[in-house]
Amino acid sequence: MKINSNFQRLSQRYLFAEIAQRVAAYKAQNPNAPIIRLGIGDVTRPLPQASIEAMHRAVDECADGKTFRGYGPEHGYDFLIDAIIAHDFSPRGVALTRKEVFISDGAKSDTGNIGDLFAVDNIVGVTDPVYPVYVDTNLMTGRQIRFIPCNAFNGFTGDIPTEHFDIVYLCYPNNPTGAVITKEKLSQWIDYARRNDAIILYDSAYEAFIQDDTLPHSIYEIEGAKECAIEFRSFSKTAGFTGVRCGYTVVPEELKVDGVSLNALWERRQCCKFNGASYISQRGAEAVFSPEGQKQIRDTIDYYMDNARLIRSRLAGYGLTVYGGEHSPYIWVSTPKGEDSWSFFTRLLTQANVVVTPGEGFGVNGEGFVRITAFGTKEDSLVAAERIGRIL
Ligand SMILES: *Cc1c(COP(=O)(O)O)cnc(C)c1O
Repeated sequence: MKINSNFQRLSQRYLFAEIAQRVAAYKAQNPNAPIIRLGIGDVTRPLPQASIEAMHRAVDECADGKTFRGYGPEHGYDFLIDAIIAHDFSPRGVALTRKEVFISDGAKSDTGNIGDLFAVDNIVGVTDPVYPVYVDTNLMTGRQIRFIPCNAFNGFTGDIPTEHFDIVYLCYPNNPTGAVITKEKLSQWIDYARRNDAIILYDSAYEAFIQDDTLPHSIYEIEGAKECAIEFRSFSKTAGFTGVRCGYTVVPEELKVDGVSLNALWERRQCCKFNGASYISQRGAEAVFSPEGQKQIRDTIDYYMDNARLIRSRLAGYGLTVYGGEHSPYIWVSTPKGEDSWSFFTRLLTQANVVVTPGEGFGVNGEGFVRITAFGTKEDSLVAAERIGRIL
C-alpha cells in the first residue's frame, strides 16, 4: 500500500492555522487584549432576510411527506439555474443554457475538483500572490505549477506569459490583492489561452463587489471566452452563504479539448462524485435574486464597501501605500519601510492588537504586503485603522 506521495509536496504550514496559533499564543499571554480580527476572509453580517424566509419554507416542505424533497438533480434545480441565468448573465449580454450551469456546494470545492478533467502532465500557471486552493489541489494531483508574478507594475493582473501553460487560474476581483481586471486585459488573457490551446479557470467569487459597471463581472462578457474558459461563482461572499454553502460553475458547451466536450466530462464527473447542493440552500440562493433579496445583499455589500473605503483612506492618510478595497472587500497594504510581512503581522498583533494576513502566506510576490479585510464591523474597522496608525 502506498499513499499519494504528492501530499508531501504541500507546505506543512496551513496559513490560517498558523495565524490562529500565533493569535491564540498571544491571547494566552494577554487574556484581556482587545483583539480585532481582520484576517480571515469570512463574512460577518447575517443572511439576507429573503433567503432566511425561503429556507424556513424549504424546511417546512421537507417536514411533510407530500412536499418532501430527497436527492435532487446532481447539477442543481432548474428554479435556481434559471434565476442565475436571468440575473447574473442575460443582463450582461451572456446567453447560457441550463446545461451549462452546474450548482455546487461552493466555489472552493469546484475550483479544486475541476482538476479531475485534466491530465496530470498539464502545466499550470497561477497568479502569485494566490488563493492557496489552486496551488494545493494541483500539487496533490502531481501537476507542475509555474507562478505568474502579480505586482503593482502590472496592476496585480500578471504580464501575459511568453511561456506555454495548459491551464491558467485567474481570480478577479482578486483575493488577496483586491485588484480588478479590465475587459482589455482579460481579452489579452483570452487571446493567450486561444493561441496556447489553454483553459482559463476564472474565479469570480467577488464579482458582486464591483462598483464600476465597465468592469467585467463574468469572463464570458469577453468574446471568445466560451471556447477557452470555465467560471466559478459563489453565494458565499455575495450573500453571506459561507456557512449555508452554495455556488455554481459554468462550463460552456463550446468548450472542447481535442473534440471532447468539457461540459460532458464535468456532467459525468458531478453525477459520479457529487449528489447536489442541499435543496434548502438552493431555495435560499434562489431568494437572493428576488427584488427584496437583491436589495438586502446590496445593503450588506455597501456596508462592507464603506468599511473598505474607511480602512483604505485612513491607512493612506498615515502614509501607507494601499491597493484594492475599491471593488473588493480586501485591502492590500504595503508594509512600512519594506518590513517583512510576518514581522509587520506580529507588530500589528502585539502592539495594535489587530489581526491581518501576512502577504507572504499567499506566495512569494505577497512578501512586503498584508491583507486586511473589510468584513468586520464599522466600529472595528475604524478602531483597527486608528491603532495601526499609532504603531507606524
Ligand atoms: C471565498 C472564496 C471563494 C468561495 O468559496 P466557497 O467555497 O464558495 O465558500 C472562492 N474563491 C475565492 C478566491 C474565495 O476567496
